[in-house]
Amino acid sequence: MPVLVVGSLGLDTLTTPFGQVKEVLGGTTSYFALAASMYTDVQVVAVVGTDFPEEYRRVLDGRRIDLQGIQVREGKTFRWSGEYRFDMNLAQTLDTQLNVFADFHPRLPEEYRSTRYVFLANIHPALQLEVVSQVHRPKLVVMDSMNFWIEHSKASLTEVMRRSDVVLLNDAEVRQFAETPNLISGARHILSLGPRAVVVKKGEHGALLVSKEDGVFVAPAYPQEEVRDPTGAGDSFAGGVIGYLASRDDVSPQAMRRAIIHGCAVASFTVEDFSVRRLERLSSSEVRERYTLFRNLTQFTDEELGVGISQPPTPKS
Ligand code: AMP
Repeated sequence: MPVLVVGSLGLDTLTTPFGQVKEVLGGTTSYFALAASMYTDVQVVAVVGTDFPEEYRRVLDGRRIDLQGIQVREGKTFRWSGEYRFDMNLAQTLDTQLNVFADFHPRLPEEYRSTRYVFLANIHPALQLEVVSQVHRPKLVVMDSMNFWIEHSKASLTEVMRRSDVVLLNDAEVRQFAETPNLISGARHILSLGPRAVVVKKGEHGALLVSKEDGVFVAPAYPQEEVRDPTGAGDSFAGGVIGYLASRDDVSPQAMRRAIIHGCAVASFTVEDFSVRRLERLSSSEVRERYTLFRNLTQFTDEELGVGISQPPTPKS
């Protein structure tokens, strides 16, 4: 089954403790599409200006990625500039130039409207609602967002959550949205609005899946020592999760658990290099290998009761 993604596509200038790159391929859809295309066909709806480099279009074009939903508008492409210092979980936005993205209204090509797996990447919630109103009977709608929309457009963001099956947010966003310091109660608050599941992304600490059918599932992050650029980790996580589910056409609780691990595995590759470079040269056998490593990260065996556990003294009668 194909996956549809709607979001930003642009040029990023990124600074991390390991270097700087200028005007490289970025935007939520490029990370998502490259990650999800490891699993299935991807349809992209986004906008670029006439200055969008042909070589970047070719990076996406060479995969199982359909680009007919990309609008080309007279003007400049969306640009974002960010910096990471010592704490690589925290991106500091230095500059955002919306350019042609400022007037973006997603228009889905006719054949995308019946796509059953939909990812609403981080864009204005009103635009996410425009997407939802254009798709016919999707099986799984997953949404992402950010602190800016929680602060400035909470009502329409809440409406997007009501109309989504899965809400994907990072830990700080869950706390901010639910106005509680506790992630589990924050996730439960979001579940009470309607979605089946909430996925809490915790950067280098993995992810939590809180769902109505399956309770809480905890996924570790791969203990990655080679983090050069964390940009796009969240979007490639989403690409791994939804790409996997769509490739199996299965949204059962067990498939959701496996999907989360796929998301963690793909995202752990993204951060190894700047921009989408690592995703460009990623193979499915590498993803499979890392997926199996995740099992070992959390597996442990039972021991006979009492061994290694100090027993309370037996009361004397
Ligand atoms: P992530 O690191 O997964 O949160 O996403 C990084 C991508 O989000 C970068 O490639 C940016 O181009 C893109 N981005 C940054 N700010 C925005 C914004 N306000 N709206 C849409 N996309 C954005």
